[in-house]
Amino acid sequence: MGQPVIIVTGGSRGIGAAVAQSAAARGYAVAISYVSNRAAADAVVDGIVKSGGRAIAVKSDVAVEADILHLFQTVDKELGTLTALVNNAGILEHQSRFDELTADRINRVLLTNVTGSLLCAREAVRRMSTKHGGKGGAIVNLSSMAAKLGGPGEYVDYAASKGAIDAFTIGLAKEVAAEGIRVNAIRPGLIYTDIHASGGEAGRVDRLKDAVPMKRGGSAEEVANAILWLLSEEASYATGTFIDISGGR
Ligand code: NAP
Repeated sequence: MGQPVIIVTGGSRGIGAAVAQSAAARGYAVAISYVSNRAAADAVVDGIVKSGGRAIAVKSDVAVEADILHLFQTVDKELGTLTALVNNAGILEHQSRFDELTADRINRVLLTNVTGSLLCAREAVRRMSTKHGGKGGAIVNLSSMAAKLGGPGEYVDYAASKGAIDAFTIGLAKEVAAEGIRVNAIRPGLIYTDIHASGGEAGRVDRLKDAVPMKRGGSAEEVANAILWLLSEEASYATGTFIDISGGR
């Protein structure tokens, strides 16, 4: 068997960066994508390469189909046969009441979080499915506890996008289960990353952490550990399933 090859969308910061580092430590050749923060993406790649791993960063907006095609074609050329995809890139916008949401905002969130994940998974299936001559593989989608909790008063649009990810995970898992591909999802809870600053409240995890049964926020590494397990052979009979990494929330 050759070296396993993973794509982590949005791997320059937060959960995606932790997944990239952990995957490299477990022997994967790693491709991360990013959309704007090139310095952060380069730092992740440099860290992996300095530790003796293989990694590349590709600027690729998951909201743009041509960028997704470019990402997968670059990985085909530079790293080889794709074995794992983590659909991690995701956005939320400023905390807002539902009745203030605009069509533009809703469409931005759905395009990035839903359409982007679906199109990346399509490209992965085209490469991994035994129906297409592939050798199988594993996909992990980043959902959120918001899919269950709904994000009231903050971002119901984001929660709805993650609900779509849940349904997508179930359906795609069943569709490709007999083609060597496992599809699962993680629902992180309150995790310390920059995403909360894009919602306008950098300190959101600390404000809400006392409502978590474990009384703390989680780390990107704690989420990455579950993702790497779902990708691994240890999870060989798991598909269409979900792991909530939320401290019991
Ligand atoms: P983050 O810290 O905001 O990092 C987002 C990453 O995605 C960055 O690498 C960013 O690239 C990239 N990105 C953003 N838009 C993109 C696009 N259109 N195309 C490609 N890459 C894009 O986010 P995070 O907290 O790690 O979240 C990762 C995933 O976990 C998301 O799907 C999020 O919804 C989910 N999640 C997070 C939490 C949490 O509490 N943190 C909870 C539940 C679910 P640049 O560096 O170029 O900006």
